[in-house]
Amino acid sequence: MAGIYIHIPFCKKACYYCNFHFSTTLHHKLSLCEAISKELILRKDELSGQIIESIYFGGGTPSILLPEELSIILDTLKNHFDLSFVREFTLEANPDDITEAYLEYLKGSPINRLSLGIQSFLAQDLAWMNRAHDVSQAKNALSLVKKHGFNSISLDLMYGLPNLSHEDWIANIATALSYSPEHISAYCLTIEPKTAMANAIEKGKMPPIEEEIAEVQFKILREMLLKAGYIHYEISNFAKPEKLALHNTNYWRGENYLGVGPAAHSFNGNQRSWNIANNPQYLKSIQHNELPLTTEVLTESNKFNEYIMTSLRTVWGINLDILEKRFGSNRKNKLLHEAENLIKEGKLLLVEDKLRIAENALFYADGIASDLFQLG
Ligand code: SF4
Repeated sequence: MAGIYIHIPFCKKACYYCNFHFSTTLHHKLSLCEAISKELILRKDELSGQIIESIYFGGGTPSILLPEELSIILDTLKNHFDLSFVREFTLEANPDDITEAYLEYLKGSPINRLSLGIQSFLAQDLAWMNRAHDVSQAKNALSLVKKHGFNSISLDLMYGLPNLSHEDWIANIATALSYSPEHISAYCLTIEPKTAMANAIEKGKMPPIEEEIAEVQFKILREMLLKAGYIHYEISNFAKPEKLALHNTNYWRGENYLGVGPAAHSFNGNQRSWNIANNPQYLKSIQHNELPLTTEVLTESNKFNEYIMTSLRTVWGINLDILEKRFGSNRKNKLLHEAENLIKEGKLLLVEDKLRIAENALFYADGIASDLFQLG
């Protein structure tokens, strides 16, 4: 199974916490869509013989594209790839881009899942994040996508924000649940270096993030969403039964994907590659039929550590049989030896042939996974 990821590197405003690749200079949108289409054609053989199950437009802000711009890429996909097995076709959309006319266009396209960048239903949160939308646009977008019959909607929320009280967080989750989305991704705010937020904290203009508060908010989130019938299938992701995100799940399971557009990453089982994170240089390179790619061949320990990290973040955990088949009994035995103390401390659970993070340690999954990494 394989997926295609398409990175649309434009946003109306720069959110203060964001370190994704995007530009707020929008006049190259059309030529960038043409370049992405060309890259898809240049690289289509990388997926030859593989079944494409999912396509994901991420960013940046894919919904910033006009229908005629998005159609250039959609037509290229239709004309050059076998899409007959695609079950999930996602577009990330920001609330301020959602209009009746845009949804009517999307309804006539192959896109069958919308991931809405809501982040918060609180005006003060959206203001200090520097989001392009306000609370009424967030609520209106959710009502409109429901009205237009989209039955696979994901929404993003953020917690652990400075000044976010537990009461406000509970109210935020309750508002999200009132729209009954099929999927919720909730991310703990992390301060990425060189962002406006990192700078503000450094200068004392904003309080630092408190991990204990974020952990309580993670527990509140989990409790409320489990009670509402969602499956907590990955640390940051919750879904109604049958609505787990296919694209993300395949990524965590180590399936292949082709990533196109500036800064997009690709993975083919043995190597990881990524495009240059610079729009003008990406355009120039593709116009000259050159792929602006950097490639890294993964070592066995790279692959093993990635498997540990992604598996431990999921509800399925590490499958020791699969791990042994892929990496051999030496690595498996060493892993079990390293895991012994973590099991005794109640941070890991070993149930039959699966190693999973214990419920009370879920918030620290990444740190626990890195304790199990193997060198060489
Ligand atoms: S809209 Fe998304 S990609 Fe764009 S700046 Fe905000 S968080 Fe980053």
